[in-house]
Amino acid sequence: MNTGPNGNIAIAADIGGTHMRAAIVTADGKILERDVIDTRPDDGIEVAANRLADLVESINPQTARGTHGAPVGMGISTAGPLDPETGVYKNPPNLGAWDEKSMKPTLAARLGLPVHIGHDATLAAFAETRFGPHRGAQNLVYVTISTGVGGGIIANGEMVTGSEGHAGEVGHITVQPGAQSCNVGCDGCFEGNASGPAIRKAALARIDAGEETAIWKLAGQDRANVTSRLVLEAAAAGDPVAVAVRNHAIRAIGIGLGSLLNIFDPEALVVGGGVTSGLANMWDEVIATVKRFSLAHFQENPRVHVTTLGDDVSLLGAAGLAFRHAGQS
Ligand SMILES: [Zn+2]
Repeated sequence: MNTGPNGNIAIAADIGGTHMRAAIVTADGKILERDVIDTRPDDGIEVAANRLADLVESINPQTARGTHGAPVGMGISTAGPLDPETGVYKNPPNLGAWDEKSMKPTLAARLGLPVHIGHDATLAAFAETRFGPHRGAQNLVYVTISTGVGGGIIANGEMVTGSEGHAGEVGHITVQPGAQSCNVGCDGCFEGNASGPAIRKAALARIDAGEETAIWKLAGQDRANVTSRLVLEAAAAGDPVAVAVRNHAIRAIGIGLGSLLNIFDPEALVVGGGVTSGLANMWDEVIATVKRFSLAHFQENPRVHVTTLGDDVSLLGAAGLAFRHAGQS
């Protein structure tokens, strides 16, 4: 690893539908400076690229450069789908105004640095192999179980992007035909049965069917207050309806993660996201379910771990992308 005057820091950005974050990150994954602004995707990609460049300048890499040298480049993690070479978005659901456009040329010109872009979940997986406890893993799958269920895949040391940048859509593995559908409409997929909105939807369906449940009282009899978090809290307190909803989600998670183990044989399958946090008290049950749906060689050690990189995982992956392109993999 280069510890000389140059090449020891990268500029990282993480772009979602709501926020854009930028940071200065060292080669060993320490965040020196950071800030966040609204994305405002409807203002157009050029406006956003210039606002992001302003943000990067405001967190002042010149100061960091005094001790760490010039940045090796800029890495960006973003919600997709997009072409990882050109950074051109392809019908991105949360960044609709940016379809068929890339912010790479504007950022490269403004900052005078090479700019590299990747899908946020793929870069989360990459971050786990570069900065997390699974550093050096050549095969790793990252799954976030949150508002949606997404994934990133590192296979044989490479980021798996697919022929058109669409690889890693682990949320749409079918886990139970005839059960709930996701927003895309697939019948009984992982996301449709284990994401935060899926847990909420399952609880509301039972409330609407007239089932007696503490969820409804905890929510003050207001549908808007029925969240996945509230459902998981009610389940932890023993409410039978909430327990049934939670156990359905755990089964979906077990089938989804077990399938991924079978397909990729990773050194680690790392899981993050709000639903994962909400199931902390049930993690033994999640692991037991993964074992039920995976092959014999995973029974002793299923290699499923909760992420330790937290909300910064994609941002760190973006930094890792810049370092990798600078020859520091
Ligand atoms: Zn789906």
